[in-house]
Amino acid sequence: MREFFVPIEDHEPMGFDILSIAKDEPIDIELKIESVAEGVLATANVRSVASGECTRCLDPLEIEIDEDFIELYEYAEDPRLIRKREKKMSERAKAKKQEEDEELDDELEVRQMDGDDIDLEGPIRDAIILNLPLNPLCAPNCSGLCPECGEKWRDLPSDHVHAVIDIRWAGLQGLDLPEPESDK
Ligand SMILES: [Zn+2]
Ligand SMILES: [Zn+2]
Repeated sequence: MREFFVPIEDHEPMGFDILSIAKDEPIDIELKIESVAEGVLATANVRSVASGECTRCLDPLEIEIDEDFIELYEYAEDPRLIRKREKKMSERAKAKKQEEDEELDDELEVRQMDGDDIDLEGPIRDAIILNLPLNPLCAPNCSGLCPECGEKWRDLPSDHVHAVIDIRWAGLQGLDLPEPESDK
């Protein structure tokens, strides 16, 4: 078994608009590689920090990512055989085959070695994205914003209310009514 520590410093932002690992935020990968009968078994721990905003109060927040995954990479076919076969294929057939292979990979979660290499990008991306909360909160009990004024409830006094004006009478506000004439 071999162990590696792979910090990824150069990557695309990973996640969603509301919460993602920024481009310049390192993603640390601890990786163990084992040879097994079918190929190579990769056990990994992914650590990073995603930043975004609370979906209730819009405060900036950070979420620690610490996820594990295990991925089996099967030995690929003899690359010489593949090359021979690909030579015979048209470009279009090649593109189609690649598309099918990718779909197959997604469905079956069986990955193949690429010669002596394994592609860790997919599993790393999955470990991160599939575990990001869809509605990140700054605190589980975040009370959000007052829908009337948009201020944070936690910054407002507990008796904070807005006078509710019945719109049917709103037009009467500020109406200059003549003083009732007093009887002489
Ligand atoms: Zn919040
Ligand atoms: Zn308010």
